[in-house]
Amino acid sequence: MKPLGDVVIKQGREKRLRNHYPWVQKSEILRVDAAGDGSPVVVLDHKREPIGVGTYNANHRFPLRIFDTKVVDLDTAWFRERFRQAEELRAPLRPRTDARRSLYSEGDRVPGLIADTFGDHCVAQVRSLGIERLKDQWLPALVETLKPKSVLEKSDMASRKDEGLPATVQTLHGTPPDSVQITEDGVLYNVPMTGGLKTGHYLDQRETKRQFAHAVRPDDKVLDCFSYTGGFSLIAKKAGASVVGVDINTLAIEAARANASLNGLDVQFIEANAFEFLEAGADNHGPFDWIVLDPPAIAKSRGKRDSLKWAVWNLVYHALPLLKPNGTLIVCTCSFQSGIHETTETCRLASNDRGVRLALDKITLQDIDHPAPVQFPESLYLTCLWLRRLP
Ligand code: SAH
Repeated sequence: MKPLGDVVIKQGREKRLRNHYPWVQKSEILRVDAAGDGSPVVVLDHKREPIGVGTYNANHRFPLRIFDTKVVDLDTAWFRERFRQAEELRAPLRPRTDARRSLYSEGDRVPGLIADTFGDHCVAQVRSLGIERLKDQWLPALVETLKPKSVLEKSDMASRKDEGLPATVQTLHGTPPDSVQITEDGVLYNVPMTGGLKTGHYLDQRETKRQFAHAVRPDDKVLDCFSYTGGFSLIAKKAGASVVGVDINTLAIEAARANASLNGLDVQFIEANAFEFLEAGADNHGPFDWIVLDPPAIAKSRGKRDSLKWAVWNLVYHALPLLKPNGTLIVCTCSFQSGIHETTETCRLASNDRGVRLALDKITLQDIDHPAPVQFPESLYLTCLWLRRLP
């Protein structure tokens, strides 16, 4: 689609955009001459020199999302090339799994578009009005490049409201099945297409799970809090550990149990609130060599930072008495609002309150199919701290 208008940026704001930062705030915009919300636009600096192309939506906190630092038509050929590059980036994952995040929005320079591949099928999320309006351009490119048998659009996230878009779940191509079986580093999962959380499976934890698989020893005792469809639990069980998985969601517990039998593994999954379960001493299942804490996002905006901090403090504070000396806590936060330094600081406070020393042994991040350009710090959202209890 050809740009339908232009947006002029205030003096001094252009450098970061030329350096591939993709978001522009309302206060950074000098003048708008766009055909309407969701339109592709040419982005100009104050001297009317082009910066690139993006999409514009006056109603959003970040009205402008930049797609390219060249002035181009955002047509099917343009999307095809972007998608080809994204596929190339993910080539190292192919021997390990038939599931991947094929497109990660700004991380792959297609702001607003997420697509996860599960075997032969694809689940897409449309997160901005701009990318919604470009569907006729990107959908053919996606079908051509990824060659999925079906594409399900699962755009049911709350943030669509900020874009003026309703929650939508619909078929975009072929016939999506109810669920798909995938393999990840030798573990089988049944991924629910419509019924699950997000796109159905947390692909971002693949690298942390891989390292966990190497680290867990036979006879270790593992507590997997927020176990969802069982990822960390199944891996630990496969390594010979005895495992307890905890999740509050009945469907998640059922799915985790089904995944355990799919892999011929016997894992105890308990339906409970992880905060209460830890506070109550894990029903005497401990002490543990490993405790995984992988709570949901909690803080999607700056205003929720304190809630996230409180949640992490609470989880760590109540997990520590259940952790053996030399045991490891894996504390995951999936929010840009609590990165490596903030989460470490919260863990320091919780361990101080217990009079316990913790060593930060390792940090693992979202896997490479969620590319996090350093030019766009907001794209790094998942950090997992491996904290060992010192004597
Ligand atoms: N570790 C999982 C992903 C976790 S997603 C994996 O790698 O696949 C977060 C999970 O936390 C969801 O399954 C959700 O049902 C669960 N959850 C949310 N609040 C909870 C609570 N208070 N107690 C236990 N589980 C909770």
